[in-house]
Amino acid sequence: MSEQVWNVSFETKCQGMNLEVEDKYNAISFPIYQTATFSHPELGKSSGFDYTRSSNPTRSQLEGVMARLENGTAAMALASGMAAITVLFELFEPGDHIIVDADLYGGSIRLFDKVCRKDGIGFTTADLSEENVQDYITEKTKAVYIETPTNPMMHVIDIRKLSEITRAKGILLIVDNTFLSPYFQNPLDLGADVVLHSGTKYIGGHHDTIGGFIVVNDSELEKKIRYLCNTVGAAMSPFDSWLMLRGIRTLAVRMERAEQNARILAEYLNNSPYVTKVLYPGLADHPGHEIMKKQARGFGAMISFEVGSADVVRSILKNVKLFYFAESLGGTETLITYPLTQTHAEVPEELRQKNGITDRLLRLSVGIEGVEDLIAEFDRVFDLVKEGS
Ligand code: PLP
Repeated sequence: MSEQVWNVSFETKCQGMNLEVEDKYNAISFPIYQTATFSHPELGKSSGFDYTRSSNPTRSQLEGVMARLENGTAAMALASGMAAITVLFELFEPGDHIIVDADLYGGSIRLFDKVCRKDGIGFTTADLSEENVQDYITEKTKAVYIETPTNPMMHVIDIRKLSEITRAKGILLIVDNTFLSPYFQNPLDLGADVVLHSGTKYIGGHHDTIGGFIVVNDSELEKKIRYLCNTVGAAMSPFDSWLMLRGIRTLAVRMERAEQNARILAEYLNNSPYVTKVLYPGLADHPGHEIMKKQARGFGAMISFEVGSADVVRSILKNVKLFYFAESLGGTETLITYPLTQTHAEVPEELRQKNGITDRLLRLSVGIEGVEDLIAEFDRVFDLVKEGS
């Protein structure tokens, strides 16, 4: 694989170009190597692939594409976003201390609270969009873990500023980049050490498969994580790898269109009498707007918003038809999610309240539909709220 060939635009990198792994028939759509194992011509000789838990040509092709989209040197594809985070945390030992941002996907908080703590890892939670991480670093601190923008409160954290501190202290900065995808933000370029993705979201892009990624730009770290991936055995399947490759082909155009829609919808919601607050970093008065302009190439297509009461929430969720009341995000269809009972149901009550995840908060993953239809649907649903239905 020649680096020169990869010195191309993001959109072109998305097309995959069968350079990672040779396909002897030059298939344009990289084949699905649906096999558990590979034969050997003789002792000590191998095609480079032995057993699919360890590596598989379809997955290797995908990993090569993902590494380049994030400007990393290596990517590991796992069975889900949570599998990726779980494997990554196997890097840590009992007694290690990790600082995590207070506002994260509920499943990540559950993993840290219910699984990692039991394994002897200590956690400190802080609002890293406001607080100084230095105040929490101890000699046992091994990593800082963030999302930006955060799920669901849409706080923005300055990755470069944080990385200057973590680098000086010799600790890892881990960034879950799911909400923006590599199209809008590349944390490794800003000094992060590890990028995570729920591939289920924008990378797959069609709400039809589950997957996760770990991306790094350090060969020592890659070696340790690959060892863990093989040992734990949570690799992405060949078919899911192919679906991810297929999703990535349109990543740039999907992100562009979804963001255009999101900007219009955020303004619309901001002007609606039914909406009391809109959390979208693309709005000029969002506290993270200027940082986003510096560190990302766009604001993404996730919007959280508050309405007047839980009854308004109930009415909206009962009456939406054109888009769906469902958890997840990042697909071509718009989804509306209720963090309180869905994505963040298992976040401890006290933290949920502190973060502002109330019974009036809704989260929107804006899709690529005609935005005029999305607005007409909100108009219709808000009219029903007025009628009390
Ligand atoms: N990270 C973020 C920001 C998420 O929103 C999610 C899931 O919603 C995950 C990680 C977990 O990913 P998965 O559902 O693919 O395991």
